[in-house]
Amino acid sequence: MNVSRNLENSFSYPSQNEISVKVNPWETLEGRRIVDIKHLFRSLQSIHHQGFNCTFRDLEFLNEIRKGYLSTFQFKCKLCGITENINNEDEICNSKNVILIWL
Ligand SMILES: [Zn+2]
Repeated sequence: MNVSRNLENSFSYPSQNEISVKVNPWETLEGRRIVDIKHLFRSLQSIHHQGFNCTFRDLEFLNEIRKGYLSTFQFKCKLCGITENINNEDEICNSKNVILIWL
């Protein structure tokens, strides 16, 4: 039949490079994390970009990278474009904990 043949010819599957799904980064932030609260507060308070006087409130959450119990939250400044990585705990302490667990 001409109709079905025309439909087959007019439809093409997108290639792997053409498929992109926009995911709201906030939707990936589910569940709970173990947090070193002192480290987290100090990290948040230390954010200050020269020029625009940017602080944490100017950052836009991009994504989270999880490696065991260590979470790295990636942000991008909406004003100056600087990227910030904030960990849920000190990476050095985290690696020591991992070593202790494996001994
Ligand atoms: Zn900034």
